[in-house]
Amino acid sequence: MSDAQSPTDFDFEPVDDFEPVDVFDDSMDLRPGADNCYKCTACDTSCPVAEVDDEFPGPKFQGPEQWRLKRKEDVEIDDSILSCSNCMRCDNACPSSVPLSQMHNEARGEYVENQMDHRSREYIRNRILANYRTLAELGSKVPRITNAVMGNSLVQKLNEKLLGITAEREFPEFATQTFREWWRERGGAQVSSEEKRIAYFHGCYSNYNTPEVGKALVRVFEEFGYEIAVPRQRCSGTPMFANGMLDDAERAANVNVPEFKDLIDEGYDVIASCTSCSMSLKQEYPELFQISGIDEVSNHTYEALEYLRIYEDVQGALEGKSVDYPDLAYHAPCHARNQGLDRQAVELFREVDGFEIEDVGSSCSGISGTYGWKAEKYEKSMKIGEDMFDHMHHAKGSVGMTECPTCSMQMEHGSGYEIRHPLQLLEEAVA
Ligand code: SF4
Ligand code: SF4
Repeated sequence: MSDAQSPTDFDFEPVDDFEPVDVFDDSMDLRPGADNCYKCTACDTSCPVAEVDDEFPGPKFQGPEQWRLKRKEDVEIDDSILSCSNCMRCDNACPSSVPLSQMHNEARGEYVENQMDHRSREYIRNRILANYRTLAELGSKVPRITNAVMGNSLVQKLNEKLLGITAEREFPEFATQTFREWWRERGGAQVSSEEKRIAYFHGCYSNYNTPEVGKALVRVFEEFGYEIAVPRQRCSGTPMFANGMLDDAERAANVNVPEFKDLIDEGYDVIASCTSCSMSLKQEYPELFQISGIDEVSNHTYEALEYLRIYEDVQGALEGKSVDYPDLAYHAPCHARNQGLDRQAVELFREVDGFEIEDVGSSCSGISGTYGWKAEKYEKSMKIGEDMFDHMHHAKGSVGMTECPTCSMQMEHGSGYEIRHPLQLLEEAVA
């Protein structure tokens, strides 16, 4: 550049009082960063749905772009918001901390409330899937009959035809004794402690379908000297957020928050065995609802292994241990990744003798809770899961491991492997 072209020679009027405009003002109650999108598209390239569905406009559009448009003009929420699976990988990918998942949840809630026909088959199907706990509560009263009925291929076909719930998947079986029934039968906590106390958020799946996960948690934490409380609770809300049923989720939160807050006041921390439940209580509750005590619940909630790694020498307890266990193909759920917990199971168990544990990669399993149960999403869900299935088949182990109940369903469905939870392995090693 010559002196004649020096930038100081350009003729322009400096604007002394320029102030950048914040599109998202405080009234929207979004977490900090809403105005920080600089269109790098990192979120779009991390989105598993956009990767398999050319029609899906991606997280950047669902988040900052849609909300900007909406604030400028009187436009409705785009119906593609229902194609977002709420995996939250875009949150993790954004270098600018744009609250993408919060924007998606708000947009989905608004779309479902104001623009969706509440008598449509899609709405009714989504409401049923989002309220799995209600179905499970009824079904688990007569588990053998429910399992026989739901496992019948004619019923599955009818479900698909009438409701749009895919007939390709096996309905998860109900346990003959729920976790809460077992807890009552054993007489509740077997360890008392003033200093070490946890309140267990078992969620729906560990209660109705896989009580062995809840039992493992109880035995492991009691081995470490914890007094355990199992308060009254409802669904964490995860399937409700994913289906835009925010009123249902708020009703559930209005039970969960005061129950757990009372225990926090007595010195308990909240522990979940499902990474989506811990995600919901930690992040989505305070983002979406205003309930007295919600911040305390958020600040005191942990995933089970996360908590033990912070407060106990769990590595020391595993040192020199050898367990008779099959080799494992481990998948980190997207919601574990979002909480920075994606490496912990592999790191923790790597030194234990008797088996090998292998991480099957960073891809999404594709099921994303209720998403892969919808007939029109089934093929996409399986396409997203292809990488994971492929890595599972190439791993040495032929038993799978993950913390998320629906990732577990997808792993089993795509590989035929039996799937276990890390707490079951920890129970084998230390309890
Ligand atoms: S939550 Fe998942 S599916 Fe939805 S936009 Fe973000 S990355 Fe895509
Ligand atoms: S990753 Fe963040 S900054 Fe980049 S386009 Fe997406 S929202 Fe915008």
